[in-house]
Amino acid sequence: MPTLTNPSEIAREAFRLLASRRMSPSPENYQALYHEIAGISAAAATPFPERELKALLNALPREKPAQQRLLKRFEQAFKGKTWEELKRGLGELFAQLGKEQDLPWSELFGDFLRQWEGKQAGLTVARKREAFERLLAGAAGNSELLFTRLQSLLRSWSLNAPMADEIPLVEDEKATPALVAKSSSSPADLAAAKKALQSSDLAAQLSAELSEIFAYTLAVLVPSLLQDEPELVADATALAHKLRTATSRAAMEGFQAGIKRFAFRLELLAEDRVELRAGLLNLLQLLIENVGELVVEDRWLAGQIAIVREIVAGPLSLRSIGDAENRLREVIFKQGQLKHSLNEARENLKQMLAGFVDHLAEFADSTSEYHDKIEICADRISAAEDISELEDVLAEVIRETKIIQLNAQRSRDELRSAKQSVDEAEQRIGELQVELDKASTLVRHDQLTGALNRRGLEEAFEKETARAQRRQSTLCVALLDIDNFKKLNDTLGHDAGDAALIHLTTVIRETIRPQDTVARFGGEEFIILLPDTQLEDAQTALVRLQRELTRRIFLHDNNRQLITFSAGLSELRAGDTQASVSKRADEAMFAAKQAGKNRVVIG
Ligand code: GH3
Ligand code: MG
Ligand code: MG
Repeated sequence: MPTLTNPSEIAREAFRLLASRRMSPSPENYQALYHEIAGISAAAATPFPERELKALLNALPREKPAQQRLLKRFEQAFKGKTWEELKRGLGELFAQLGKEQDLPWSELFGDFLRQWEGKQAGLTVARKREAFERLLAGAAGNSELLFTRLQSLLRSWSLNAPMADEIPLVEDEKATPALVAKSSSSPADLAAAKKALQSSDLAAQLSAELSEIFAYTLAVLVPSLLQDEPELVADATALAHKLRTATSRAAMEGFQAGIKRFAFRLELLAEDRVELRAGLLNLLQLLIENVGELVVEDRWLAGQIAIVREIVAGPLSLRSIGDAENRLREVIFKQGQLKHSLNEARENLKQMLAGFVDHLAEFADSTSEYHDKIEICADRISAAEDISELEDVLAEVIRETKIIQLNAQRSRDELRSAKQSVDEAEQRIGELQVELDKASTLVRHDQLTGALNRRGLEEAFEKETARAQRRQSTLCVALLDIDNFKKLNDTLGHDAGDAALIHLTTVIRETIRPQDTVARFGGEEFIILLPDTQLEDAQTALVRLQRELTRRIFLHDNNRQLITFSAGLSELRAGDTQASVSKRADEAMFAAKQAGKNRVVIG
């Protein structure tokens, strides 16, 4: 059939064919015959449905970044406006989708869990979390990017590298473009080559990461430990620079020699510091011994001194030094107050005694003189021959007696005023005692048990909550109330009750960890702060304390008295105050009492 070019002829021919081929006269059949006659291929004849595809695209969901990315790729797939290109574009898109889903996520998550729970030098959980959150924010919605970055982060964690999470990430595919081009090699050759290249790449990457960690240690960490050594700090910074800029073997050798010298100087410094520390500790102990000698008469002061001595003798930490400092401050404060009142009382007593001795001496002198004179008078009376002689003697006796009477009266008056001075001194000492009691409310420790008082607890709580927030760690608060304490007081007396409180405090102090804090919250209630502790571990610690109390039983007049307590436990939550967390612990403690006492309840 000759090819027709005139559209009306083509249309007429199409109608004819429809009839001769007995086809139903549908628009599709007519169009097919029309194209056949005109010699147009079906694909070329179908107009590219760009408008429809765009409408379809606009109707698809686009809320999530992943969806938006998918739409963009879809749009690119029909940018060429031909069916062929659309076919290829969609093919690529689907291949890519399959690849994304094929990423070995479960393996990666397994690795993630291992690294998260594992310990790496210089990496705390808080730091790991920070790096992970940064990674999540950086790769939001891009699962592929997330995968490679997470893979890289985990690799850096496994190298114990604190800085490695900031090292630029390398994607395996990008790192091996040469392999794809080498199409002539056999598959085995390719695999071997790929492995070799990967391992040499990995080695280079590891060494770059290690080198950066070393430089970071020298530039940042070492100087932070050497604040009093500006020369060493300068050396460390210079060495870090040398390492970061070293590109030749000679430069690396120079760095190596420098770091050896630096290490030697650090060693010398460490030896000096050990000696210095021992010397300071000796000095401190000497000081405490001497203060102890001065205050042995005061029970409270002697007790505090003993505690300070114990703290200084034990393993030192910033916390124990802080505690020792607080206690010493209180000792010095209270000693100053006592010294003042003691000096005043001593001065008054001295004056009074001096005056009294003077009066006694005077009185003794005048009475012995009086005796002598009266004796002479008596002789004269017995020797008197007439009454006129007696008159003179009697006048003398009366005069002498009057003098001695006056002397006695003066002595009595003076003694009375001396007594008044003593009374005044006594009153002053009483007033001072009241002042001292008031001042004791300024101190941080309970005077009976030596545990922190409420004021001390407030300070400790503030310190611990700030520390917990800074380190993103937990803080548990336990409230203990002695069981049936009133009965113990009533049957054994108040002093026995006091001794029981001291005993409990001692056992608590010796059972909890050095970083835990014990405070007397009220009469027979105590609070223990347990930093960096999960609830279950805090519960275990309290149960251990209960066992210890049973083992180290309280003795009163050689009778064994079992002391038990009920405790409530609570963990610090966001927005908690000391009052709110203590209230929860108190409610839990109440529940422990209700449940039969001598138990620990978590609130
Ligand atoms: P529960 O088991 O329910 O806690 O009963 P309890 O008897 O321990 O409790 P209650 O609150 O009835 O009694 C507490 C007693 O503690 C009352 C008080 O006399 C005594 N107490 C409070 N402070 C001191 C103190 O400093 N020394 C002495 N010896 N006793 C104290
Ligand atoms: Mg109570
Ligand atoms: Mg009680």
